[in-house]
Amino acid sequence: MASPAASTDVLLASTAPRALAPGPLIHERFADVDTWVFDLDNTLYPAGSSIWPSIDARITLYLATLLGLDGQSARGLQKYYYRRYGTTLRGLMEEHAVKVDEFLEFVHDIDRTSIPSNPDLKQALALLPGRKLILTNGSREHALRTTERLGFHDAFEDIFDIVAAELVPKPEASVYESFFKKHSVDPKRAAMFEDLARNLVIPHQRGMRTVLIVPEGSDHREPWEAEGVTEPYVDFVTDNLAGFLQGVVMGRLTP
Ligand SMILES: [Mg+2]
Repeated sequence: MASPAASTDVLLASTAPRALAPGPLIHERFADVDTWVFDLDNTLYPAGSSIWPSIDARITLYLATLLGLDGQSARGLQKYYYRRYGTTLRGLMEEHAVKVDEFLEFVHDIDRTSIPSNPDLKQALALLPGRKLILTNGSREHALRTTERLGFHDAFEDIFDIVAAELVPKPEASVYESFFKKHSVDPKRAAMFEDLARNLVIPHQRGMRTVLIVPEGSDHREPWEAEGVTEPYVDFVTDNLAGFLQGVVMGRLTP
């Protein structure tokens, strides 16, 4: 049996497109994929972006207000819930009475005007043959507004959000099963792109090709969120989603 490190094809080369040139491995591994599934936060925009820290700060403020906590205590509780339950919302639902709609609206009410568009990713998504879907622990409205700013909201057939998942977050297996069923996705012919390795465990088990998106340079993540790069359920690792997708497309076109 191969070691975890040996089974992971690490493609870290955001600034060197040639290093992402398609090898036979990429071409073969994605040749039969007809459905491309993307996480939203820290995947379709870089972890270095201000988007997630803005949401993160709104979640802290929500907890502080709801529970009458100071900022530091609210922050600690938020991170505990996030790690234990998959989302802070799930923790709030398990341990407190919380109005879900109010929470989702409040935490995603951020200023998106400074989000730059990403023409490279827009083009790569357009060239990718097959269906493209978003599978997010956030809200549909947040996914729509954010991808609109990024310039490629129309690249996706649909968004499966936390409400569609009946408020159960990834990495719970039931979320993926509901998603596959609702959108008639055959996981054996699909690929999943995610910034959290633990959210790739079930996709890998179901036969999806899994790609872990890691930050280019510094990011805002907790140490545990950066774990999993060498796990066997991670097929590929990249810090440049657009470049990776271009490599996949080129690989398909190369005889
Ligand atoms: Mg994410």
